[in-house]
Amino acid sequence: MAGQLNTFNPSPHLKASRTLRLKTFSFIFFLLLAGSISSAYSQTTGQKPTKMVSAKYSEVPLNTIKPKGWLLGQLNIMRNGTTGHLDEVYDKIKNDNGWLGGKGDGWEETPYWLDGAVPLAYLLDDRELKAKVLKYIDWSLDNQRPSGYFGPITKWERETGKKVTADSCMMGEDWWPKMVMLKVLQQYYTATSDPRVIPFMSKYFNYQLQTLQNCPVGKWTEWAQSRGADNMLVVQWLYGITREPSLLRLSSLLQSQSFTWSDWFFGRDWVIQAAAQQNGERWMTRHGVNVAMGIKDPAVQYHRTGDKKYLDALHTGFNDLMTLHGLPFGMFSSDEDLHGNAPTQGTELCAIVESMFSLEHAVAITGDTRYMDALERMTFNALPAQTTDDYNSKQYFQIANQVNIKRGVFTFSLPFERGMNNVLGMRSGYTCCLANMHQGWTKFTSHLWYATPDKGLAALHFSPNQVSAKVGKDNTMVTIDEVTSYPFSDKIEFNVSTPKEVAFPLHIRIPVWCREAAVVLNGQPLQKEKGGKIIIINRTWKQGDKVTVQLPMEVTTSNWASNSRVIERGPLVYALKLKERWEKGMDEKEGEYYNVFTTDDWNYGLIDSVVKHPGKAVSVKEIKPVTENFVWNISNAPIELQAWARKIPDWKIVNDVAPQPVTARDGLYMGKTEDKMEQVTLIPYGCTKVRIVAFPVVK
Ligand SMILES: [Zn+2]
Repeated sequence: MAGQLNTFNPSPHLKASRTLRLKTFSFIFFLLLAGSISSAYSQTTGQKPTKMVSAKYSEVPLNTIKPKGWLLGQLNIMRNGTTGHLDEVYDKIKNDNGWLGGKGDGWEETPYWLDGAVPLAYLLDDRELKAKVLKYIDWSLDNQRPSGYFGPITKWERETGKKVTADSCMMGEDWWPKMVMLKVLQQYYTATSDPRVIPFMSKYFNYQLQTLQNCPVGKWTEWAQSRGADNMLVVQWLYGITREPSLLRLSSLLQSQSFTWSDWFFGRDWVIQAAAQQNGERWMTRHGVNVAMGIKDPAVQYHRTGDKKYLDALHTGFNDLMTLHGLPFGMFSSDEDLHGNAPTQGTELCAIVESMFSLEHAVAITGDTRYMDALERMTFNALPAQTTDDYNSKQYFQIANQVNIKRGVFTFSLPFERGMNNVLGMRSGYTCCLANMHQGWTKFTSHLWYATPDKGLAALHFSPNQVSAKVGKDNTMVTIDEVTSYPFSDKIEFNVSTPKEVAFPLHIRIPVWCREAAVVLNGQPLQKEKGGKIIIINRTWKQGDKVTVQLPMEVTTSNWASNSRVIERGPLVYALKLKERWEKGMDEKEGEYYNVFTTDDWNYGLIDSVVKHPGKAVSVKEIKPVTENFVWNISNAPIELQAWARKIPDWKIVNDVAPQPVTARDGLYMGKTEDKMEQVTLIPYGCTKVRIVAFPVVK
């Protein structure tokens, strides 16, 4: 299977003489995606590690998938907001940028922004945004040093007029921001096949191989040391294209110098200690964003070595993480460190988008549906709740039971003085999230579909989109329209367009929460299947074929910290709908921001019988259709649930949060409740800013 390789349009900067090389690279890329990756991986060097295994699924090129419906609306909002314009409104990127050869910021934030702006530009096929991001890509590609080193001009280079060589590697600068730029270039290459990228990366990785003994990955920052798996990921991707044996040695060397996430995940003591300690000792190993990025480490090591112990490490580590630090919206606490599972802890936006990116790769390498379900849960619940409608402001930390958004110290493990971590602002909290948040929705879009090793397609995550790709033994270009308003709707239609009959497998994931899915082919029942599996439809497809997948969404409850209960339906968790009062503030250093309060009462406990029989006791109402104009906010919530509840008069705000009421062993709140039973309305968590999601249970 290959993507739309024939859609490459040479940019004006490409010289005609490059055409031949371009064709060569396109051909190699084609081979890679045509499923030959498995045989390629067996041709390793004879040195350890030798057992590179084929991934269960491969990523499709960036321009293979076109967002539609509400997802297109979301990406358009981002294009019109900061993703499309951060370089115009944010001084660090705007002023004399280091990644354009200037003396300004040359660390992580420009690559962070590009890591989302590049996929956005190609997913939307936006000429203006493509031209904008290309400036930074061109500068990096055109200013690689003869040694292979790249990135902003170093202080030493500026002072001496010399260039960093392998012998003078200590005059280079931090490896970390370059890891992000590699991710940017990888995505750019899948969209354009620009022939400059592969030689550039080969040269840089050769430089790394020559210099890492003298200038190890942690030489400049622990950030680089804790995030080495991102470097390895791109090295191994390049190996899939060039089969250059030294790349496997480099990846192995990077692993030996980086944080040993896989060992920690397997050993378990690390995650338990992180639940017990929030002090300054070894905090980088508990830092939520580092952990989020570390999730991919076992998958990357498994891919390179074929050692199944890494699959166990991933399974154990992820399960432990979500058990000890998990929150109802599908993420772990990260404020900034791992901080237990109380619904009053915070989660950093960077931790969400980095966890998503890690899982997108864990999904490809392992083919394990657990990571697909986990990815959808954080994408459809945690992600949309943390940004404003216009994608210009965000919270550094969101809280599950967030009864107000405001300035304050809260119970975060980084209570820095200004207290701006919870407010919605562009420059509030640390600014990493403002630069990094753009990779969330964009990469989720580009990972809706994967290629199968036998030249088919796999719909592993769902949202409205259209995919065009080459499938089957003759590489026939087919288009599949995925028509749905998932995650709000339980029905997904796949409409196939093909110029001729073509045999290929179509994989479709059945989410774990679905008791029994019904699959219909051209109006005829095809099969029924339980959740937590992937169905494979092997068939000769014809023009106009239609597969309809019905994923009945039942109302269920789940158990969280302090005997709290969460109401769920399908991929969404539901939170108490509360009127919002937005209040603008101004901070001298961190600029304009918003507090959000509610005038509604929020101190409800769910009635015991609702929790025991949610299918019967909770009513579901479809409020409005989901269109391209959809925005994740209370006025657009497409679905409302109604459930019986009682107020708990003593449940009050303490230190800006609502500490969970104490319950007895049977899970019930034993204190005083109001006599009156009331029907409360719940809406999708992602549509809320202030809310209760983890409810106490009352008689
Ligand atoms: Zn951040």
